[in-house]
Amino acid sequence: VGTRNFLMATATVIYLLITIMLYILYQRQQAMETLATRDPLTGLFNRHKFNQLVLRQLKNNQKNALMILDIDHFKRVNDTHGHNVGDEVLVALADCMTKVFDNGEIFARHGGEEFVVFFPNTSLAHAKIMADTLRGMIEHEAMPTVGQVTISIGLTNTSQHEPMLQIIERADQALYEAKRQGRNKVIIRPYLQDRKDK
Ligand code: GH3
Ligand code: MG
Ligand code: MG
Repeated sequence: VGTRNFLMATATVIYLLITIMLYILYQRQQAMETLATRDPLTGLFNRHKFNQLVLRQLKNNQKNALMILDIDHFKRVNDTHGHNVGDEVLVALADCMTKVFDNGEIFARHGGEEFVVFFPNTSLAHAKIMADTLRGMIEHEAMPTVGQVTISIGLTNTSQHEPMLQIIERADQALYEAKRQGRNKVIIRPYLQDRKDK
């Protein structure tokens, strides 16, 4: 009986040690994953992860929409209130995006004060409504210290198997146009084939 108890105790200790080791490895793996896929300031996906997720959708879906948004006169925010306040505004904006885009949209910080949203299996008309919802929400949101900020949005749809760079380029042109037309606007630049159809 003594030997049996000893063996059981040893097995239990080994089992516990293995469990603890696996747990530590899992935690480390999670931390590495977060570092590789998330923007540390806002917690949103980074551009790399965004591209990876969107490429998968582009292969499978007939129609999608994509938008780029950019904070209006953000340099002014930094210059007037400092970089830390600017950072707080970026975090607040990311939080608003998380509230609005809760229906399978893929969104990320694209860099600096620019964010991207991909709408899988979504018409341009519906994406426009979502874009305007966010634009209106930001316009009326009390941002930390700053008060009001506005965003400009460039929106486009995708053709199947279209290269990512081309889609982003078109959304970027629409964003540029939104800025040119006075900011706090959503401008659409559709995929050309669709324009011919109309
Ligand atoms: P526009 O309406 O044309 O977009 O004007 P803008 O001032 O927003 O555009 P611009 O590209 O001139 O300035 C963007 C600013 O965003 C400059 C840069 O310092 C700031 N910025 C970029 N990344 C960060 C960040 O992580 N934190 C903070 N606080 N500021 C950032
Ligand atoms: Mg910018
Ligand atoms: Mg800007």
